[in-house]
Amino acid sequence: MNPAFLGLGAIGRPMAARVAAAFPNLVVWNRTADRASTFAAEHKVRVAASPADAARDADVVITCLPLSRDVESLLDGPNGLLASLKKGATLVDCTSGDPATSRRIAGRLAEKGIDFVDAPVSGGTSGAEKGTLTVMVGGEAAVFDRMQPIFKSFGQKIVHCGAVGAGDALKAVNNAMLAIHVWTTAEGLATLAKAGVDPKIALDVINTSSGRSNTSMNLFPERVLSRAFPRTFRLALLEKDIGIAAQVARDHKVPTPVTQLTADLFTLARSELGEVADHVEAVRLIEQWAGVEIS
Ligand code: NDP
Repeated sequence: MNPAFLGLGAIGRPMAARVAAAFPNLVVWNRTADRASTFAAEHKVRVAASPADAARDADVVITCLPLSRDVESLLDGPNGLLASLKKGATLVDCTSGDPATSRRIAGRLAEKGIDFVDAPVSGGTSGAEKGTLTVMVGGEAAVFDRMQPIFKSFGQKIVHCGAVGAGDALKAVNNAMLAIHVWTTAEGLATLAKAGVDPKIALDVINTSSGRSNTSMNLFPERVLSRAFPRTFRLALLEKDIGIAAQVARDHKVPTPVTQLTADLFTLARSELGEVADHVEAVRLIEQWAGVEIS
C-alpha cells in the first residue's frame, strides 16, 4: 500500500507516526507546513506540498482534521484531492465527523470510482502513541477488509459499524456520553466538596460504586485532583462532537433532553474557556459557579 496522511494535529501526529512505522513509504501533508517538516525530521516520510501532491501516488489517503467540512474543503481546486486521486483509491477519514457530510463526501468520491470510509478513533493521544485506538468504521465491508493493514497500524479494536456515517454517529454518541460524564462528575464533586466531603474520598468511594466511569476513574484523578489539566483533546472538539450527537438525535426524532442540554452547556463552556482549553477544563467553569476547587 502507498498511504498518505493529511492532518498532523494532536491525535493525527501520533497516528501518522504509527502509519510511518508500518509503511516506510508514507507521504504526509499538513496545512501549516512547519508541523509537517518537524514530523519529517523524526520519521522516514516525504512531505507533500499540497493535498493533490500527497494523493498523486497514493492508493490510501488518511485524513484527521477537526470537522468533516474541513475534509470536504480539501477535495476541490487544482491542489485538491480530486485533482490527483486515482480510480480505485480509498479515502479513510479518521476525523470525528458528521454522518451527513461523510455521506456527501462518499457520494462525490464514488462518482470518480474512489472509495470512502469514515473511521473515527477513540483512546486519546496516549492510545494513538501506543497503537491501541478503537477504530469505528462506516462503509462497505469489502473496503473495511481491504483497509485492515492501515487500521491495525494504529488501532487495537477495529469494528465495522455499518454504512458510511455509522462510525461518525457512534463516535459522536460516545463523546456525548463523555461530555455528560465530565459535567455531572464535576457537579457531583463540587456539591460534595461544599457539603464537607473531601473530593479524594468521594472519588475513592464512587470508583468502587455504581456512579463510576472512565471520567471518574481516570480523568479526574489524573487531571483534576492533580490540577494538571493537560491539553490533549480540545474542549472545542468535544463541543463539536456532542453537537453532532444532538443533531443526529434530532434528525431521527429521538427525544434527548440531556444530550441537547449538555451540548448547550459545552457551547457556553467553549465561549467562556476558548479554543485551546482542554475538554476536562469544563470542570473549571463548574468550580467557579460553585466557588470551590475539586482537589
Ligand atoms: P487539532 O486541533 O490538534 O489538529 C487539527 C489538525 O487539522 C491540524 O493538523 C490542523 O492543521 C488541521 N486543520 C484544521 N483545519 C483545517 C483545514 N480547514 N484544512 C486543512 N487542515 C486543517 O485536532 P486533533 O488532532 O485533536 O483532532 C483531529 C480530529 O480527531 C477531530 O475530529 C477530533 O475530534 C478527533 N479526535 C481527537 C482526539 C484527541 O485526543 N485529540 C481523540 C479522538 C478523536 P494546522 O496545523 O494548520 O492547524
